[in-house]
Amino acid sequence: MSKVSTTLALPTGQVAVPTGLFINNEFVPAVGGETFQTVNPSTEEVICAVSSAQVADIDLAVAAARKAFKTTWGKNCPGTERGKLIYKLADLMERDAQVLAELEALDNGKPVKIARCALAHCFCAGKLREGRDFDIGDSVACLRYYAGWADKIHGQTIETNDLQKLAYTKHEPIGVCGQIIPWNYPIQMWAWKVAPALACGCTIVMKPSELTPLTALKLCELIVEAGFPPGVINCTPGLGSVAGHALSYHLDVDKVAFTGSTVTGRKIMEAAARSNLKKVTLELGGKSPNLVFESADLDQAANWCLLGITYNMGQDCTAGSRVYVQDTIYDKFLQLLVKKFDQVKVGNPYDEKTFNGPLVSKGQFEKVLGFIEEGKKAGAKVITGGGREGTKGYFVKPTIFANISPNMRIVKEEIFGPVLSLGVFKTEAEAIALANATTYGLGAGLHSNDAKQCMRVSGALEAGTVWVNQYNLLNNNVPFGGFKQSGIGRELGQYALDNYTSVKAVHFNYGEELEWPPV
Ligand code: NAD
Repeated sequence: MSKVSTTLALPTGQVAVPTGLFINNEFVPAVGGETFQTVNPSTEEVICAVSSAQVADIDLAVAAARKAFKTTWGKNCPGTERGKLIYKLADLMERDAQVLAELEALDNGKPVKIARCALAHCFCAGKLREGRDFDIGDSVACLRYYAGWADKIHGQTIETNDLQKLAYTKHEPIGVCGQIIPWNYPIQMWAWKVAPALACGCTIVMKPSELTPLTALKLCELIVEAGFPPGVINCTPGLGSVAGHALSYHLDVDKVAFTGSTVTGRKIMEAAARSNLKKVTLELGGKSPNLVFESADLDQAANWCLLGITYNMGQDCTAGSRVYVQDTIYDKFLQLLVKKFDQVKVGNPYDEKTFNGPLVSKGQFEKVLGFIEEGKKAGAKVITGGGREGTKGYFVKPTIFANISPNMRIVKEEIFGPVLSLGVFKTEAEAIALANATTYGLGAGLHSNDAKQCMRVSGALEAGTVWVNQYNLLNNNVPFGGFKQSGIGRELGQYALDNYTSVKAVHFNYGEELEWPPV
């Protein structure tokens, strides 16, 4: 029988980490004993084997979630009680931020400092900045934000022209939710999905990415400690084509929420359509632009553009992977940007000075290096970077390409690495046209000190999130999601609650009498 836990050496010390599937508040092996290996991207060595959910395991997890929905959660647990448990989970996550960050550094490669970014300070544009939460710190805040919503989910009373009728709506929990998340923010994507679903009274079968399963499993220990009833949150690591597909195809899953690539998003929608027409929300990819106009504070604009493409090693759905600069300031801006790029410290994710760790996997590493080679062959000019860093681990130098043209693959396709395409424009209209020339529509940034221009351009950009004189910073109470092929639905803020509730309209007659058939 495969093991359901292992002990790993982290900077903090030896830490026990679950490796089984988490069903009904217990760690169990896959029914057939299947496992997959997870790899340390800094060393290219195997960390451990993790149970790999198959169709039968997904069936068990969904059954556990259904039972909890009908008995201890859903309409059987008041919102105030749900809120208390979510607050408790947030406190535990905050308590364990250091261990979770170290485990994330091991499994995903992101620097401990960036992952933890919890409590008081974090990097912003390469500098320490007080009071900003990212990643784990932001996940704690996300749980608290939705804990506050748990007892504030209600419908409306609606006056009708039937005078003796009370019509009202109820926002009922949608039911059992499959949640499928990627590897780039294994904890934050977990929090974005779990928190609103729990607040609304849904139960969950979570499938983390097979590249980064460890922190999602470690969080399951906190679910037990917080006191959630068995079956409310289940976690089933496994391959996308097996466990992910089984979840999105399952006849007893009411809703599937997905973050990942556009290619997989299509498959999930298709599986939902072919099975029970479960509700689907998708957060997908992007090829987001940053526009730098001549009136901008160039030093600040360069900082935000740098953050936009190097934060999380560019493995970010809103990575600002295309920067377009007005011709009058192009040379000056380029000089500034290159200087800042060259200051980004790439290296050991356990080192508190590191800003960029390795990419997550061999596959991602080879994909990003492939894009870099293709950009060179297509005639784009490498200004800085342009290859791997060191000889071991999946480290890539932050790279700027200039002399780009719209048809190059590096300009059109999502690279998901620290690779920036830098272009130039003359007029505002040209900048907008370049920015919108993509099938994606997740994020966009603009940098200008002309307020009227900021209003015009932010209105014209086709993206679910537009940052003006900022980039990549999100807030838990502001919605996030994509236009065009970047997704369906919104996460975060009050909007996310709509994903996890069904609206029921009740028509309550308190006087009208029917004579039928009419005489
Ligand atoms: P991916 O689509 O390969 O995988 C995401 C998840 O889907 C994983 O858990 C995977 O196992 C699962 N999966 C894969 N095939 C599946 C299938 N056939 N059925 C069901 N599930 C399946 O994406 P990734 O490589 O893990 O992540 C990178 C991508 O995610 C990028 O394209 C990025 O833009 C996108 N992303 C988007 C957002 C957002 O909020 N819009 C956030 C993070 C990442």
